Amino acid sequence: MSTATAYALLSANGVFEKTTIERRELRPTDVRIAIKFAGICHSDIHTARQEWGTSSFPLVPGHEIAGIVEEVGSQVSRLSPGDRVGVGCMVNSCRECENCLAGEEQYCAKGNIGTYNSKDVDDTITLGGYSTTIVVDEHFVASIPEGISLEHAAPLLCAGITMYSPLKRWGAGPGKRVAILGLGGLGHVGVKIAKAMGAEVSILSRSTGKEVDAARLGASNFYITEDRETMRSLRNHFDLIVNTVSAPIKVDSFLSLLRFNGVLTNVGVSPEPMSARFSSLAQNNRALAASGIGGMRETQEMLNFCAAHGVGAEIEVISGSEIDAAYDRVVASDVRYRFVIDISTFH
Ligand code: NAP
Ligand code: ZN
Repeated sequence: MSTATAYALLSANGVFEKTTIERRELRPTDVRIAIKFAGICHSDIHTARQEWGTSSFPLVPGHEIAGIVEEVGSQVSRLSPGDRVGVGCMVNSCRECENCLAGEEQYCAKGNIGTYNSKDVDDTITLGGYSTTIVVDEHFVASIPEGISLEHAAPLLCAGITMYSPLKRWGAGPGKRVAILGLGGLGHVGVKIAKAMGAEVSILSRSTGKEVDAARLGASNFYITEDRETMRSLRNHFDLIVNTVSAPIKVDSFLSLLRFNGVLTNVGVSPEPMSARFSSLAQNNRALAASGIGGMRETQEMLNFCAAHGVGAEIEVISGSEIDAAYDRVVASDVRYRFVIDISTFH
């Protein structure tokens, strides 16, 4: 057992407090990582505020982890001390089911083990990346290529793969009109990745406040979703819309923007359910889909793609004592575009 310094919520409705947590002894296939940076994902906030159901406390969120390998177990083959690595939303899965064997461990038939707030194989509750170290099986550790700094890479471990996977699956590329709905942490990385894939990228946002940034990020067009005229003019227009909004959306209204064979795919996880009319899908042979993060193979592919195309997150680096304020700013959509915690401020 080793100890780590973490920022934790000790109870529901509490504030983040500096505390000491335990990390397990290395198993043969484990690595211990000295965490350097941890991104703040809106999912951390949904979990901390119990918007998705009951959470376990003390809660140490954080699943956008970038750091340096400190020590490796006796059977670790791929990683060595000193390597630049990342950990995303999951730290284990059964590794035997059809989905795990297909490299889609996030869809493990027995349920993947989340990086935090999840029951581990030894019945302890996992504690995430707002911490100085973490111990993870090497299978769930990705290599961060040279060329992306750890702080700009950290958000790719969740936001990056969550966007890359559906953009690739649904064919974002040359000749395709792709819209990203919601310009936040996921959305801004999605714009960069879709642009790097060769698509024409548009942003659908609630207000004009992010228009200048959108162009800088690589978007060709910026549309205001609250403007009825604009929305009417975009009917039957897009091949693909990726919804990143953390609250319910008017599904039929966005389906109407899809041209023939167009797809509305969802990665935002609204706490409330949404409904749609089949007739909105039948028109233009549209499809409605959703996905969760991506498997480890695709996560590594995404990191290599981002390094090759110079894609990293736009970040605001904060200290451990600023996490509560950062949460409020994310909820107010006042983040440009990802908060990343500098773990050296924990020491
Ligand atoms: P974020 O940084 O808060 O971005 C969400 C964006 O959605 C905001 O910037 C805003 O964009 C828009 N938005 C927020 N509230 C809205 C509202 N009430 N009505 C309309 N638009 C609203 O959050 P994030 O970290 O990108 O995460 C987004 C969602 O994805 C969260 O629900 C998160 O839990 C989920 N998520 C899912 C996965 C997955 O695997 N599927 C992975 C990670 C995160 P504008 O200002 O441009 O309108
Ligand atoms: Zn996340």
